[in-house]
Amino acid sequence: MAGSCVTTRTTCPYCGVGCGVLASRFEDGTVTVKGDPDHPANLGRLCSKGSALAETLSLEDRLLFPSVGGKRASWDEALHAVSEGFARTIADHGPDSVALYVSGQILTEDYYVANKLMKGFIGSANIDTNSRLCMASSVAGHRRAFGSDTVPGTYEDLELADLIVLVGSNLAWCHPVLFQRIEAARRTRPNLRLVVVDPRRTATCELADLHLKLKPDTDVALFNGLLAFLHESGGLNDRYVNLHTSGLAQALEAAGSCDIRAIAEATGLAPQDVATFYSMVARTPKTVTVYSQGVNQSVCGTDKVNAILNTHLATGRIGRPGSGPFSVTGQPNAMGGREVGGLANMLAAHMDLENPDHRALVQSFWQSPRMAERPGLKAVDMFRAVRDGRIKAIWIMGTNPVDSLPDADGVAEALRACPLVVVSDVSTAVDTLAFAHVRLPAAAWGEKDGMVTNSERRMSRQKGFLPLPGEARADWWALAQVATRLGFGEAFAWQGSSDIIAEFARLSMERNQGSRDFDIGALAQITPEAFDGLAPFQWPWPAGTPAGESRFFADGGFFTPDRRARLVSVRQSAPRKLERRYPFVLNTGRIRDQWHTMTRTGKSERLSAHIAEPYAELHPDDAGLLGIAAADLVTVESPHGKVLVRALVTERAAQGNIFVPMHWTDQVSSKARVDAVVAPDTDPVSGQPGLKFTPVAVTRA
Ligand code: SF4
Repeated sequence: MAGSCVTTRTTCPYCGVGCGVLASRFEDGTVTVKGDPDHPANLGRLCSKGSALAETLSLEDRLLFPSVGGKRASWDEALHAVSEGFARTIADHGPDSVALYVSGQILTEDYYVANKLMKGFIGSANIDTNSRLCMASSVAGHRRAFGSDTVPGTYEDLELADLIVLVGSNLAWCHPVLFQRIEAARRTRPNLRLVVVDPRRTATCELADLHLKLKPDTDVALFNGLLAFLHESGGLNDRYVNLHTSGLAQALEAAGSCDIRAIAEATGLAPQDVATFYSMVARTPKTVTVYSQGVNQSVCGTDKVNAILNTHLATGRIGRPGSGPFSVTGQPNAMGGREVGGLANMLAAHMDLENPDHRALVQSFWQSPRMAERPGLKAVDMFRAVRDGRIKAIWIMGTNPVDSLPDADGVAEALRACPLVVVSDVSTAVDTLAFAHVRLPAAAWGEKDGMVTNSERRMSRQKGFLPLPGEARADWWALAQVATRLGFGEAFAWQGSSDIIAEFARLSMERNQGSRDFDIGALAQITPEAFDGLAPFQWPWPAGTPAGESRFFADGGFFTPDRRARLVSVRQSAPRKLERRYPFVLNTGRIRDQWHTMTRTGKSERLSAHIAEPYAELHPDDAGLLGIAAADLVTVESPHGKVLVRALVTERAAQGNIFVPMHWTDQVSSKARVDAVVAPDTDPVSGQPGLKFTPVAVTRA
């Protein structure tokens, strides 16, 4: 490091905690990174991944120039190839023959422009996002219960709670700074209790007073039982229920009676543990239930979400300091994508694609020639449509579906046969790039400029502090250029990110008129200078009001037609039978020091030293029966594909279950793309894939 430095206030590009980062760039080009003490999400803390950000900035493996058909091209030639290819496909086969598949890694501005182009101007809702893999079941559960996709609480609730129930969440590894906040709160208030509900014994369990190692996908039985227990023990909040909810009687009928032995049998838990858990919740008004991918990534994920929400609604434990349900998102801008209608069944500013009034309002605001009239294809179905030829042109932005979608080999096959594949990315170390006819170099973290929203509805600036390398450009710019070439230039003529946010804010005002959750009208006239210095804030932030902390629903005010929350009747599905050929349940997920398909974290030696190679965690009894010793190579196989990984024999795994991390790709380890093994089964409501449950065979290699 030499000379003076310029420090930029930005946010971390990894998980949905959304930590503030101070990035300092010195005269010699060196960059250092530390936590922003003024950012409310992290108050100066960073985890191992955030702390190593400065080690990931090299231009090695950067995609720096556009190409068409494998040959370097100018931006003009590449944009022409995209717009001409999309226009021809639409003319020949209609708007639903093209698609966009985007990412929770892109900024709110990129997301907004992509949705405006597809839904309002091309006229198809075939735009979905890898956030479908992350929190679509939470969105669907929120909308069923609240009438809106609203996270009621704030991170501060984790510090104010007396009991935190973590369901399907390895917070210690996947949202580490939130876990640090809980650890710190527990040091000052030793009576803060923690229950972990997870089939695996994860690092998070080290802090738990009680670990409920339930059978996979039996969460509905556990939380239905809790609802029945609260009812039978007089633990419901009759006043709240009567004033602000509907559906309790039906939800209780679906839940059945609180038979602890039957619940223990259904969930695989000890009756004493079930009883202890229920008593802890019953006597603790300040309870927060945090849930994440173990809940969402399931073929019954939406029902799991509603089973959890039912217990909070029936007790009125929602939107109050230290109590409420809390969905934590995986990606840095999964929430921003939800706000702009990034999912195939939503419209911008939390409007519904299936509501004709909302469609008319958005079309009128955009002055667009057409509007998608039905929901588009969700991620897994979108690639099925590519595979069977219904979609003939796809633009993939900031995500790597050949490695990260279930049935990943099927996704590769689909793209191989697709007449036009466009990929916008920052890295050449992305397997999906091999299938691209047109490659577009995108601006990366540290170069791009815009907004992201974290899991507590906090919108923060992500700001550039490095020059754009090669010919890399912002994704929103590339989308606007294609829109212009398709003849829609006037509606896509922004000068910068602040113009896009201002337009989005004006749309949120039209939407709300004082009656809805998402409102950022305070930004409707924001100037580039004010945008540059914009401090993190929680939405809603209506025009003419000061920014502030906010919670929803303590006094009702839900966004259903009758303003009451709905308790949704959910039932535990019958146990899934495993075939003799595939007797194990494969669960996939994150490790502490890697992110997604490693294109950034893989550049840090420090991070790669944590866990150096892919592995399969399996129980010692299973290993013994299979003749597998620690560190043996094992094959994990399903009807969809197989991987070769190292055996990690540990009692952390439950018998009959194995865990394989999701990060390794063909670029790093040629036989460890675990999503090639994962079944493409989805939740019928949310369309989210069940990434935590694939029947597999495990054999010694
Ligand atoms: Fe980044 Fe998440 Fe770590 Fe915060 S907790 S530094 S947002 S990876």
